[in-house]
Amino acid sequence: MEIIDGYGRPIVDIRISITQRCNLNCIYCHHEGHHERSNSVQREMTADEIQRIVSVGRRVGIKRVKITGGEPLLRSDVFEIITKLSKLDGIDEVSMVTNGLLLDQETCNRLKHAGLKRINVSLDTLNPQAYFNITQKNVLHKVLEGIDIALNSDFNPIKTNTVLLKGINDADVKDFIDLAMKTGVILQFIELMTFNEINDDFFKKYHVDPSPIEEVLQGIAEHVEIRKMQQRKRYHLNNGTVIEVVRPMHNSAFCANCNRLRVTSDGHLKPCLMREDNLVDILKPLREDASDEELYQVFLQAIALREPFFKE
Ligand code: SAM
Repeated sequence: MEIIDGYGRPIVDIRISITQRCNLNCIYCHHEGHHERSNSVQREMTADEIQRIVSVGRRVGIKRVKITGGEPLLRSDVFEIITKLSKLDGIDEVSMVTNGLLLDQETCNRLKHAGLKRINVSLDTLNPQAYFNITQKNVLHKVLEGIDIALNSDFNPIKTNTVLLKGINDADVKDFIDLAMKTGVILQFIELMTFNEINDDFFKKYHVDPSPIEEVLQGIAEHVEIRKMQQRKRYHLNNGTVIEVVRPMHNSAFCANCNRLRVTSDGHLKPCLMREDNLVDILKPLREDASDEELYQVFLQAIALREPFFKE
């Protein structure tokens, strides 16, 4: 049965962080809104535990799973996790967001075989020096190679995630459109987020208002679609390029259309990306042999705590 939260939002998507470990160190990273890192490696959920959580989650209406991290490809059992999830009846799609660094041919083959449907690759710039400045690693060529391999492995289209950063990549929209024309990737420009707008000097320095970029896109787009999910705008250019703009900050329509529950890598249900004060531990009861009914009640508890962060 589909459960609707107190604000009329069904819960259809689950976004699961399977590790906090990462092989890049992006200067803007929000760590999926989970900053408690001390015990997270020991408490990483096993493949079976992740499967059990999603399996119970189906009872509240979950149909789609996104795997994230940390860097999900750092887990050697990522293929097992995806296989277990994609085989669950009622789960229509398992997708993943990755920095793309480990997307070699064998990995892509195994991901495909495991049942992964879609991949988003984080790609904030096409300039090697800027890439280094953002991630602290000189590996842009490897990521571009990974995107090519994924495209040729039938993960088509690939979406790229680009967090807009003032003075770093906000003038690169044209370069990304060229990339999309050449490769067929779907571009996704994401507004920089913060959980502490007042005191976040990084945010103040680098946040870009996406409005001027959207105005340009509006001018060159053949048509503009508004996706149901978080009311994201999707611009279709006449050269076939597709560009989505994700604007979470102060966007009540974004929150009003959020159908997503999250799971932290240490097994807490997370009702909202923006908040860390209302997590609900599901791994503890699961490890203490809770029944499916008891775990379902834990889901209901987390859903009851859901509240749009930005409201009208
Ligand atoms: N390591 C993987 C990767 O690089 O894609 C998965 C984890 S990363 C936290 C997932 C996504 O979060 C990235 O694509 C990035 O777009 C987004 N992200 C991280 N920090 C952000 C921030 N401060 N504002 C907006 N998006 C952010």
